Amino acid sequence: MKDGAIVKLIREETKRQAETLDLIPSENTVSQDVLKALGSVLTNKYSEGYPGKRYYAGNEYIDKIENLCRTRALKLFHCSPKQWGVNVQAYSGSPANMAVYYALLQPGEKIMGMSLPFGGHLTHGWKANFSARFYKSIQYTVGRDGYIDYTALRKMAKKERPQIVVTGATAYPRVIDFKKVAAIAHEIGAYFLADISHEAGLIAAGVYPSPFPYADVITMTTHKTLRGPRGAIIFTNIKSKIAKRKKCDIAKEIDRAVFPGLQGGPHDHQTAAIAVALHEAAQPSFKKYGRQVAKNAASLAKELARYGFNLVSGGTDNHLMLIDLTKQKISGRNAQDRLEKSGIIVNRNAVPYDQRKPFDPSGIRLGTPALTSRGMKEKEMKEIAKLIHTVLIKNKNVKNEVAKLCRKYKNDR
Ligand SMILES: *Cc1c(COP(=O)(O)O)cnc(C)c1O
Repeated sequence: MKDGAIVKLIREETKRQAETLDLIPSENTVSQDVLKALGSVLTNKYSEGYPGKRYYAGNEYIDKIENLCRTRALKLFHCSPKQWGVNVQAYSGSPANMAVYYALLQPGEKIMGMSLPFGGHLTHGWKANFSARFYKSIQYTVGRDGYIDYTALRKMAKKERPQIVVTGATAYPRVIDFKKVAAIAHEIGAYFLADISHEAGLIAAGVYPSPFPYADVITMTTHKTLRGPRGAIIFTNIKSKIAKRKKCDIAKEIDRAVFPGLQGGPHDHQTAAIAVALHEAAQPSFKKYGRQVAKNAASLAKELARYGFNLVSGGTDNHLMLIDLTKQKISGRNAQDRLEKSGIIVNRNAVPYDQRKPFDPSGIRLGTPALTSRGMKEKEMKEIAKLIHTVLIKNKNVKNEVAKLCRKYKNDR
C-alpha cells in the first residue's frame, strides 16, 4: 500500500489490537479469509437489486456469491427455504432493523422494545433514535433482579397494543425466553422481531436457545459472536400467522424495504466476507469456539464475584456480564479509563436502575468472544479477573502482565 499515512495508522491499530485484551462483548477477531474477501475487487461492483434481477450488467459472479451467502445462512440456522426468506444486503444491524420496521409498520405505529439503559439497543425504540421518531415507542425494562420481567412485559403489551414486539439487547447477560415473548406478541396480533445481534454465534454453535421456532422476523449482525465482517442478515418467516392475517407477503416486503426502500447497491465484498464467515461457523471447530466463549464468560463472572464485584443478575448465561461498581464507589468511566491504561479494553455501561448519568454510568460491560478467539480458556479468565481486581481495587497498573498474556495468545487468525 502506497498511502503512508494510512499504512502507519493501520499498523498502529494492528499493534494496539495485538497488545491489549479486548473484553468488549460486541467485538471479535475475524479470520484472514474474511479480511481477504473484504479487501477484494468485489468492492468495485454495483449490483442494485437481487440475484437474477439486477439493474446493472456484469453481475454473473456477484449473483453466485449472494446466492451462496443466502444458502449458507439458511443452512447454518437449520432453515428450510420453504419457510424462511433471507436477506444479506443490509449494511449493518441498525439498517437491518430499520428495514424490518419500514417493511412491516406504517409511520406512527407502535414499537415495543427493551429500554437502552436497561440493556436494550438504540434501534428498539430509544428516544434519540429514528425508531422513536418515526414510530411510537414504548419500552420494557428488567426487574430489580436484573431479569426481564415477563409479567410486566405482557401487561404493557396488552395495554399498549404495539404492532411489533422486539427482543434483543446489548447488555443483557441472561437467556431471553423467546417462546414467552412470541406468545405475548401473537396474543395481541403483533409481530415478534428477535434481534439476535449479540448471540447469533452462540445460537449457531448451539449454546444459546434459538428464536427460530417462534419469531416472525429475525435480525442479526454478522460481526459480533458470529465472527464475520461488519454486516447483517434478516430472516423472515414466510409462514408467519400475523403476516397471513395482515395479508402481507412478508419476505417480499423485507426485500423491498432493504432495496429500494432504504439502500442502493449492496456491499458485495461484505456479502462475500459474510459467506466466508458462515462457512467457518458451520465447521465443528466453531461449535467448540461457541462452547468455550460461554464457559469463559461463566468462569470470568464467577471469579469476579469471588473478588467481591457485584454482577447484574448475579452472573451470566451467555458471552457477557455487567459489573455494577456502585459498592466500590468507582464510576464506569473511571474504571474504563484505568483498565485501558493497563491494556484491558472494556466499555462503561449503565446498569439497571442506574443512579448516575449515561455518559458516566455505574457499570462496565465485559465479554469473552474476542479473548476466546485468541485461544484463551478458563485459566486465563481467572488471571484476567485477578488483573481487573488489581487495577480497580488495589490501584496498580498491570501492563506487564497484560503484555505477557498478549504475547502468549496472539491476536491473528
Ligand atoms: C450491535 C447491535 C445492533 C446494531 O448493529 P450495528 O451494526 O452497530 O448497526 C442492533 N441490535 C443489537 C441488539 C445489537 O447488539
